[in-house]
Amino acid sequence: MTARLIKGTEIRDEILKELKAEVDKIKQEHGVVPGLVTILVGENPASVSYVTSKIKTAKDLGYKEVQDNQPEDISEGDLLSLIDKYNKDDSIHGILVQLPLPKHIDEKKVLNAVDPDKDVDGFHPVNVGRLMIGGSEVKFLPCTPAGIQELIVRSGVEIEGAEVVVVGRSNIVGKPIANILLQKAPGANATVTVAHTRTKDLAYHCKRADILIVAAGVPGLVKPEWIKPGACVIDVGVNRVGEKISEKTGKKIAILKGDVDFDEAKEIAGSITPVPGGVGPMTITMLMRNTLNSLKYRLGIA
Ligand code: NAD
Repeated sequence: MTARLIKGTEIRDEILKELKAEVDKIKQEHGVVPGLVTILVGENPASVSYVTSKIKTAKDLGYKEVQDNQPEDISEGDLLSLIDKYNKDDSIHGILVQLPLPKHIDEKKVLNAVDPDKDVDGFHPVNVGRLMIGGSEVKFLPCTPAGIQELIVRSGVEIEGAEVVVVGRSNIVGKPIANILLQKAPGANATVTVAHTRTKDLAYHCKRADILIVAAGVPGLVKPEWIKPGACVIDVGVNRVGEKISEKTGKKIAILKGDVDFDEAKEIAGSITPVPGGVGPMTITMLMRNTLNSLKYRLGIA
C-alpha cells in the first residue's frame, strides 16, 4: 500500500485563502485589519529568516505588520518596556518575540510580559492554562500543534475515538498537541497516549496508534514495523542530516530528515506527512490565524 500524502503546502494555501477572505470582509465591515508586531533581537540568521517569512505572509494577507528590530545588546528592561508599549497599542493584536533571545535576557520573563490576549504564539502560562481547561476558555492554540490538528482534520482522518500516540513531551509540540486532541470538541475527542524518553516500550505504543504523531527530533526514530497498517502518521521532526547543493539556486542547503523512515513508512501508513513540506508550512499559517482571531475577540465577532 502507498500512503496518501498529507501535503502541508496545499493545506497551508487553502487556509491562507480563507484567512485573506475573512480579513477583507472584516476590513470592509469594521474598517480594521489584524496588527502583528515581530520583535527580533540581534541578527541570528535562522531568526532573521523565520521573521522574514512571518512578515511576508502577514503582508500578503493585508495585515498591519510592524517589524521591530532591536540590537543584540538591548537591556532586559528596555525590551520589557517595548512589550508594554505594544500591549497598550490598540492597533496591535499579536505580539511575537522571536526566540532565542541573547543570554543576558530572561526569556521566560519577557514572554510572560506579553499580554495573554495578544500572545499569538500561545505559550503564555495563561494560554497554556486556558488550553488545559478547554471549551470556551481556549483563545490561542500554540501554532505547530494547531497546524498538526488542521492537517489531520483537513485530510479527512477521523480523530474522534481514535488511539493517538504522541512521541515527545515538549511544551511546544508534544504536550500541547496531546491536550488539543483530547479536548471534548470537534476535531478532537481522541484517546491520547504521550510517550517520551522514559517510555518502556515505545514500539508497543506506536503500533497501537491510529494516529501517530512523532516530535522527538531523532532522525528515523520510528521504524516502519512500528506503524499500524493504515495509520495516519504525522512526522514533526526536522533534522539536519547533511548538506547538498540546491538545483534551483546552486547554493548549499540542508538535507532534512524526519523522525520517521518516510520511504518505508509510506508503504504501511494510510496517510503520512513528508519532511519537508508537511507540518512545517503550517506553523506560520496558524500564527496568522491566531492574530486574526485576536482581532475577532476584540471586535466580539469570534
Ligand atoms: P524537544 O527536544 O524539546 O523534545 C523532544 C521530545 O522527544 C522530548 O520530550 C523527549 O522526551 C522525546 N524524545 C526524544 N528522544 C526520544 C526517544 N528516543 N524516545 C522517546 N522519546 C524521545 O523537541 P521539540 O521542540 O518538541 O521538537 C521536536 C522535533 O520537531 C524537532 O525535530 C524539531 O525541529 C521539530 N519541530 C518542527 C516544527 C515545525 O515543523 N514547524 C516546530 C517545532 C518543532
